Amino acid sequence: MVRAIVGANWGDEGKGKITDMLGEKSDIIIRFQGGSNAGHTIINDYGKFALHLLPSGVFYEHTTCIIGNGVALNIPYLQREIDEIVSQGVPKPNILVSDRAQILMPYHILFDEYEEERLGGKAFGSTKSGIAPFYSDKYAKIGFQVSELFDEDTLVEKVDRICEQKNIMLEHMYHKPTIDPKELLETLHEYRDIVAPYVCDVAVYLRKAIEENKTILLEGQLGTLKDPDFGIYPMVTSSSTLAAYGAIGAGIAPYEIKDIITVVKAYSSAVGAGEFVSEIFGDEADELRRRGGDGGEFGATTGRPRRMGWFDAVASRYGVKMQGATEVALTCLDVLGYLDEIPVCVGYEVDGEVTKDFPVTAKLKKAKPVYEKLPGWKCDVRGITKYEDLPENCRNYIEFIEKELDTPVKMVSNGPGRHEIIYR
Ligand code: GDP
Repeated sequence: MVRAIVGANWGDEGKGKITDMLGEKSDIIIRFQGGSNAGHTIINDYGKFALHLLPSGVFYEHTTCIIGNGVALNIPYLQREIDEIVSQGVPKPNILVSDRAQILMPYHILFDEYEEERLGGKAFGSTKSGIAPFYSDKYAKIGFQVSELFDEDTLVEKVDRICEQKNIMLEHMYHKPTIDPKELLETLHEYRDIVAPYVCDVAVYLRKAIEENKTILLEGQLGTLKDPDFGIYPMVTSSSTLAAYGAIGAGIAPYEIKDIITVVKAYSSAVGAGEFVSEIFGDEADELRRRGGDGGEFGATTGRPRRMGWFDAVASRYGVKMQGATEVALTCLDVLGYLDEIPVCVGYEVDGEVTKDFPVTAKLKKAKPVYEKLPGWKCDVRGITKYEDLPENCRNYIEFIEKELDTPVKMVSNGPGRHEIIYR
């Protein structure tokens, strides 16, 4: 049985917590896209962790955690992250890396930096983890696949060919130091030695696991609004964030994905540039940011303060529907307990007309939020374990959102901890 856990919005919805929680009853957890550019914050019995590349299932001894072929694999980063959690007392996780995953190269990170530098004020607000240059190279067919590390002749030929091309860019476009092919080859040999113990034909492994009825989780990074096709292009990420891509990025048949748990936050937050219709500013935003998430809404990778906003039903319904959500996990409900009334964005006004459908970016730029205000519940809902025990206004807020999303909210998260969850 395969379940996907994905985000409906700009990311940071709390997918890590939900994956960590569902990991307890799962056999295999797979990352299928993205790289170390976004983080999941997880609080469990071992402490507090910010994972960037490892799947959120690494805290259980019974799970196998997989880096799928769709991921941008930063090999030294992988090693560092494994070492870090082990040094904090977590038993060494069982990790597999797809032999078809491609390698995020040191020059991808440099090109990411140089390009943002070149763009100046027009930069994308990249996390400079090399993700866009990585995926560009993958689809330009000049990426390095993990399997190629074990084929010396291919490697040598490819290193020379790629350095030639990259060095023209480095020298003439960015005016930066060039890459020495010998050094690059040595780096790749180091990468080979680090990754060798984990390499696996993941598609075969998963086919067998599915036949054996194992429970498999596909863990998404970011959310619908950062998808290159369906997000706020061009302020998106460079790999698909949709559950459908989980089939490709992990190497399974699409019809095997039975459940698509889409994580939605009870308010909005976003990092990086891009359209954000229900964004709020000033003191109102500062207060929500300070109270949000676990100890404030600041990026898990970059530490950047997140942009804040009210719940956006237009973006979230679109986000949920594009994921193909079978259910919603609504997180961070506890954060809103301080408000007298809670604005919810229920429509966008574009050119004098109100729409409930999330538009393309050019129209989105003109959209103004239409708010409906719901009464707050003015108390702390942490520690509550039964839905009926939530204050009436809180239940009304959840049920209002559920109706707007047109999808059942089956889990409500009322705190960052692993067990702070209410099932409906
Ligand atoms: P992800 O990338 O989707 O996993 O999201 P992040 O980990 O970047 O951000 C979610 C933040 O919210 C983290 O700091 C979590 O610890 C925290 N969090 C998750 N669920 C809840 C919740 O129900 N209540 C509160 N207060 N914090 C939560």
